[in-house]
Amino acid sequence: MTITTKKVKKRFVAGAKCPKCHAKESIVLFKENGIETVECVDCDYREQQTEAKVAKKASGAVIGVFTPD
Ligand SMILES: [Zn+2]
Repeated sequence: MTITTKKVKKRFVAGAKCPKCHAKESIVLFKENGIETVECVDCDYREQQTEAKVAKKASGAVIGVFTPD
């Protein structure tokens, strides 16, 4: 898996409405360190979609690695 932290591509979410300032078409979606992040360009609203299930699965895959003979 390739994670690019320097080049962050921000995409506008069509039809999205900011829950804080209620501005329309102001929500951008991008990945920060592999975490889905939504941000409002009009105010300081910001939310990260930390999916516990995904994180658990990912770490479990790393911890659970075993090499059969
Ligand atoms: Zn906003």
